[in-house]
Amino acid sequence: MNNCGDCRECCVLLNIHELNKAAREPCQHLCETGCTIYETRPKTCSDFECSWLISDWAGSLRPDLSGIMVAGFSDYLGLFEIREGCLTSDEAKTIIKIALGTFKHIRYWGFDGTEGTIRAT
Ligand code: SF4
Ligand code: SF4
Repeated sequence: MNNCGDCRECCVLLNIHELNKAAREPCQHLCETGCTIYETRPKTCSDFECSWLISDWAGSLRPDLSGIMVAGFSDYLGLFEIREGCLTSDEAKTIIKIALGTFKHIRYWGFDGTEGTIRAT
């Protein structure tokens, strides 16, 4: 199990329906030191754990450092490109290789709005 540390990426990437917060928009409650309503944050927030957080993946693969966030949702694994170009980085290749060891395919959303599926070859 890792530790979020200075990462705040899910507070930008996720759609938080309780707050009417759209995906890829910084949350109104996000500040430099974290969440200003941490104790009363919505369930969507308190329930969320990205794949890096619940793994022993290397620190360099933390979402804010790698530019890639991976998370398991109800019936699929989702991969989000946080910064343009990160989807083709060595870190992304490492994450994809690890993920495809468990999942047959990954749904991805690129920084530029593209989306698709990555399958094991
Ligand atoms: S993206 Fe993952 S590591 Fe970053 S703050 Fe969210 S849960 Fe923590
Ligand atoms: S309410 Fe807090 S934990 Fe939830 S997205 Fe906003 S800043 Fe992040």
